[in-house]
Amino acid sequence: MKNQRKLKYRSLLSVLDMVVAVAALRLCEAGKKVLMLEMGLNWGKSGIPYSSLLKPGKSAAWLKNKTIAPFMNIFPLTPFTGALDRLDFKNINVWVGRGVGGGSIVNGGMAVTPKKAYFKEVFPELDAEKFYNFYFPLANKELKANVIDEQFLNDCPIL
Ligand SMILES: Cc1cc2nc3c(=O)[nH]c(=O)nc-3n(C[C@H](O)[C@H](O)[C@H](O)COP(=O)(O)OP(=O)(O)OC[C@H]3O[C@@H](n4cnc5c(N)ncnc54)[C@H](O)[C@@H]3O)c2cc1C
Repeated sequence: MKNQRKLKYRSLLSVLDMVVAVAALRLCEAGKKVLMLEMGLNWGKSGIPYSSLLKPGKSAAWLKNKTIAPFMNIFPLTPFTGALDRLDFKNINVWVGRGVGGGSIVNGGMAVTPKKAYFKEVFPELDAEKFYNFYFPLANKELKANVIDEQFLNDCPIL
């Protein structure tokens, strides 16, 4: 109890992902004091380099003794609070990012617009027309998403 500090914040945002980062930005812009809690590391400030796929390092996985990236190669690891975690359920495994930035720190950078028929089937309660005419174009514009050049795909040595 002796070392407890009293913190006074108007807003407490747990988890530091993309959505919460935007909420925090808006609250700060409105002059509110915000405290953000995140279970993983701040990789940008940690000084620890990001892992490469072929030579995985400390950031490769969250407290695992082997790599969990969804590829064929499995490498041994010393458990560390790395950037990628996998939650295993009975019928599904879910990969998630751990650290300031959440999934954005392990994200593949692809902006995929789902097939309309599939979207409608999965989200019957949503207004699909509004998503395809407004939200997806707006998101792609804001993200400055573009399409990979066919020539690049043809020339890419790993395909
Ligand atoms: C390997 C990988 C590749 C991907 N590639 C793409 C892609 O190319 N294109 C695409 O559109 N999407 C991609 N995604 C999906 C996308 O990144 C996620 O859907 C998105 O990041 C989810 O954002 P979020 O804000 O909902 O939550 P997250 O980004 O998952 O954030 C949750 C945050 O909460 C923290 N947290 C969790 N529990 C606690 C706790 N108890 N206390 C404190 N903090 C906690 C976590 O550490 C994390 O920082 C990818 C995901 C992964 C895992």
